Amino acid sequence: MSFASQAREEIAQRSLQLQKDCCVRAAAYGIACFAKYFDAKGLVLQTEQELTARVAEQLFARCGVQGTITEKSRPSGVVYEFGIREPEQVVRLHELFGTTGSETSLQIDPKLIRCQTCVSAYIGAAFLCSGTVTDPQKEYNLEFLTSRTNLAKDFEALLAEHEFAPHRTRRNGVNLVYVKSCANVERILAFMGAAQAAQQIGAQKAMKQVRNQINRHTNCDTANLGKTARANAQTLKAIRFLQEQKALETLPEVLQEAAAKRMENPDLSLAALCACFDPPVSKSGLSHRMKKLEALAQSMRERMEQEGQH
Ligand SMILES: [Zn+2]
Repeated sequence: MSFASQAREEIAQRSLQLQKDCCVRAAAYGIACFAKYFDAKGLVLQTEQELTARVAEQLFARCGVQGTITEKSRPSGVVYEFGIREPEQVVRLHELFGTTGSETSLQIDPKLIRCQTCVSAYIGAAFLCSGTVTDPQKEYNLEFLTSRTNLAKDFEALLAEHEFAPHRTRRNGVNLVYVKSCANVERILAFMGAAQAAQQIGAQKAMKQVRNQINRHTNCDTANLGKTARANAQTLKAIRFLQEQKALETLPEVLQEAAAKRMENPDLSLAALCACFDPPVSKSGLSHRMKKLEALAQSMRERMEQEGQH
């Protein structure tokens, strides 16, 4: 099951368990607002999810309005249509919301959203009808679509009031109200009743953080490796120069030993190289010897250059 379907199923189950009349009506109102048609002829909701059609049927039934579900075969698959078309039922539908169906534009009537649960029931119903959420492994995005511009504006305001930081735009002539960012998507899912989907986002966020930490450490190790390789290259160059000049064998034994170990283990970090000595030497002691070798090579090179000039 996709992440969006999982969220939709949770919200549907929650819609069916609403207790108070005000909240059941708010959910039914959410379906009316985000349905395909809601006018003087009644209501038509089209959905690919049978569960969404069943939720619509039950919510309206609890409000005393009877509708019917029909299945339609489309090239893209089955579409479930919940319709309220019987004239008597259409009258009840508009009585329920205090509408006539001949309004020029649909806007959210605040009188129909009474309590905090009403808000979440309304937004959840809107999501069932017109919403989708992207798999959080790809990106954080949850959106609602509607062809009704004033409704989209009111809906954006409603989401903003509850601090979901919504955005609104138009895509292909349709209004899009969407919520971005991990925290907002997680919160709105939980608010609508998709607790498990919200939890999954939380868990994925935690996993991403761990992964980022590991990446940071790996990058850090790589950076250190680069530093080690550069430092070793410089020491090795000095040692080879001293060797070419037959200067190496004239140096104190501790420096000869350090040079020999470094040539045998060109890739080891200084700390790791310390352990190759018997008895082991301290890192600072070994670092001092390597610097001494580099300094000797450097002064020798300078002397030769000066002599060459004369
Ligand atoms: Zn309520």
